[in-house]
Amino acid sequence: MKMSKMYIRTLREAPAEAVVPSHILMLRAGMIRKIVSGIYGFMPLGYRVLRKVENIVREEMDAAGGQEILMSALQPAELWQESGRWGDYGPEMWRIKDRNGREFCLGPTHEEIFTDIIRNEVSSYRQLPVNLYQIQHKYRDEARPRFGLMRSREFVMKDAYSFDRDEESLNESYQNMYDTYTRIFNRCGLEFRPVEADTGAIGGSASHEFQALTENGESTIAFCEKCDYAATDESAVCVDAPASNEEMLPLEKKSTPGTKTIEAVANYLDLPQSRTIKALLYETYDEEGSVTGYVAAFIRGDRQANETKLINALGINEYQLAFANEEKMAAVTGCVGGFTGPKGLHDCKIIVDSELPGLRNLCAGANEADCHYINMNYGRDYEADMIVNFKLVGEGDVCPECGAPLKFKRGMEVGQVFKLGTKYSKAMGAVYKDENMKEHEIVMGCYGIGVTRTLSAIVEQHHDDNGIIWPVSVAPYHVIVTVVKQKDEEAMDLADRLEKELSAKGVEVMVDDRDERPGVKFKDADLLGIPVRITVGKKAAEGIVEYRLRTDDQSVELPVGEAVAKAAAFISEGLSH
Ligand SMILES: [Zn+2]
Repeated sequence: MKMSKMYIRTLREAPAEAVVPSHILMLRAGMIRKIVSGIYGFMPLGYRVLRKVENIVREEMDAAGGQEILMSALQPAELWQESGRWGDYGPEMWRIKDRNGREFCLGPTHEEIFTDIIRNEVSSYRQLPVNLYQIQHKYRDEARPRFGLMRSREFVMKDAYSFDRDEESLNESYQNMYDTYTRIFNRCGLEFRPVEADTGAIGGSASHEFQALTENGESTIAFCEKCDYAATDESAVCVDAPASNEEMLPLEKKSTPGTKTIEAVANYLDLPQSRTIKALLYETYDEEGSVTGYVAAFIRGDRQANETKLINALGINEYQLAFANEEKMAAVTGCVGGFTGPKGLHDCKIIVDSELPGLRNLCAGANEADCHYINMNYGRDYEADMIVNFKLVGEGDVCPECGAPLKFKRGMEVGQVFKLGTKYSKAMGAVYKDENMKEHEIVMGCYGIGVTRTLSAIVEQHHDDNGIIWPVSVAPYHVIVTVVKQKDEEAMDLADRLEKELSAKGVEVMVDDRDERPGVKFKDADLLGIPVRITVGKKAAEGIVEYRLRTDDQSVELPVGEAVAKAAAFISEGLSH
């Protein structure tokens, strides 16, 4: 394809709001355009990349036994009310009404629709297992859309759902998808890690996230260098400190004026922070946003809280927990801002981190201004409504599998697999009859890939100062033929020959025949990230061209036939894995 006829507009500078390389470079390369905050349109080159990623997903899903369907993005509220998620989903769900006032949402995910299809059509064990998938737009009204395609409000997702007769069969379906995802992300050229993940609002018993490793990722991954353990920081297990065998000392109240923080009280009493108890005060809300109660969570002073684990333990949704208004909470529970401890609190749920009962003689607030207790011991001095391990894992904490220190990396979630079990089939009545005509709930799994987000991840991992460096498998074109003087007939003939011969070998070629200075053309070729550049320059009359890979600094001069053979071999090698 001749660039003079293509709709491409590159930008020298990206808009100021773009701060991460993938967002900057895809805008500058003219691959995406912002429609409105968090919503993007795909321009010709960007759309080619999107379709290539989709096709890799499609080929691997089909090879794994998945069957592609296409459901509507608009979903009736009734199905979500049946599963109980209409209320649970919160403000991220994009809700709309039709002209008669009937409620719908723009699907953030499709468990309900797929379960509805299956319950109406599957009745016998003979019809199972089934794996259905679609590649389609999803909608989530993100509070802070940012980083271009990385966190957008409309995005393309591949979502698959498996339906099995029992757990054992689900385990096979899950492993099949896990392996398929590994192949998909390998083919997309991503460096990634599957990690244990929180099951969150979708619910279920087990989950893995596929995290592309990148500095700008929004997730933190904790992993062990000694064994295979890897998990997102919100799902990683922070191992309890070993129980202490110290004698319990007598409880003592100390005057600790003005020591409102752990650091201040530890300094004042000359204690390590690990001998203090930190209080975290929360309020909980119902689905309408009214306060339903108070929660005081206690954790060792030097630890951080993992709110996801608190939320899961409380069995509520993320938007139903927030830090308390301390004054209002004090009036109800007797807490005192900066001096709150577990002894003597009332009318609130007391959650104690799992390692505190094993530790001895700690310092905690006395629920009295400017006072702390020392030698506070669980069982003797305070109790809990719930004991929960809600410690956030820190770098260097011990691996829960082998005890070696954990390391941290940044990642970007590009896929997630879930064992849902019977959560949706139970709520929505999706059942089958076994060999003895006995009825059972269908056991489900669900499997998502953020297709547009995968594009971001690829660019985050494959770029340099000059632009994108697409892996061959997803490059919008494989080869760019840059004609230095497009008015030189011999040069244009040679470019035509290159295009024809390469195309005949299945190589996708774009020819830069624009009326631009050579410097502009070279810059654009680098920015667009086409894997191979063949320059038709001053030796065109002798049939000599310059051959350069996007990843190399140097070009080599080659007779045109050799350049064709070399490019074709390079592309075919790149497509083979
Ligand atoms: Zn380990």
